Amino acid sequence: MSVLIASLGRVAFRLGPAVAALALVGCSTVGDVVGGGSDESADGESGTAVDCLPIVVGEDTGDIFVIYEVINGQLGDVCFGRQRNVVEDGWDALAEVAPPEQLDHIDLFAGFTSIDTTVAFAGPIDDDNERFVMAVDLNSAGADADELRLTMAHELAHVFTQTPDQLDLDARLATCETYYNGFGCFLEGSFMADWIEQFWSEEQLASLPIKGTIDEEGGEERCVIDPTVLGAYSASHPEEDFAESFSAYVFGVEVPPALEPKMAFFDARPELAAFADRAAAADREGIDNNFDRCG
Ligand SMILES: [Zn+2]
Repeated sequence: MSVLIASLGRVAFRLGPAVAALALVGCSTVGDVVGGGSDESADGESGTAVDCLPIVVGEDTGDIFVIYEVINGQLGDVCFGRQRNVVEDGWDALAEVAPPEQLDHIDLFAGFTSIDTTVAFAGPIDDDNERFVMAVDLNSAGADADELRLTMAHELAHVFTQTPDQLDLDARLATCETYYNGFGCFLEGSFMADWIEQFWSEEQLASLPIKGTIDEEGGEERCVIDPTVLGAYSASHPEEDFAESFSAYVFGVEVPPALEPKMAFFDARPELAAFADRAAAADREGIDNNFDRCG
């Protein structure tokens, strides 16, 4: 298989339940690959351990070659496979802009070799969306440092919009009054509920697959007529729209005027603006706009 290079055209897909990934041709939410990956905290022991196994990370998008533990928002030891510089570079790119508390929900950080166009993914590894994995494709992550930065911010956006303070996993589609993403219903006042209310019309929402999956074809169509999206991938799903737009915001990507309200959305929320502040402090602002275009 050819190496996924492609410096342009970032997109992401969802593969299935609850994990979101960024691919060159669509971000995938990887499936609920995970299944109960966490150990019970038996006998009152504190600090539950997550199983450091490829099956926990998820193998739908490719083989897992390395897994690192993440402890208190810090990259820890390799717990599966062997050390890979490109994975550590991905972590560094993430930690450079993410306020430390935003990394609290990440328990594993992995490297895989993509079998499709997925360049990274993120998703929960427990049943409560308290603990997450993020993973980067070993073949493409080293191709472009700025792309890697955008990708990491994109994936982390999927994490902090799916935690229990954001997404009600017990809710059902039929009774969800915000948006049901296939796994749960976004809580009133959550980032995604506000985003969708502000930027996705009833008509647009009605055109999406009812199960909350990515709509690539519809994304192409919406992209052509909607000047407020960064590209076809953004237009494929509200969560991809959020994640793509957020990554552009963090790194001060120059966007068309029609996207200013979306940038202002992040700017008005201090916990999200903090990412951009850190990017600016690290002199990472002004990444080129290489988002996938329509068509
Ligand atoms: Zn995504």
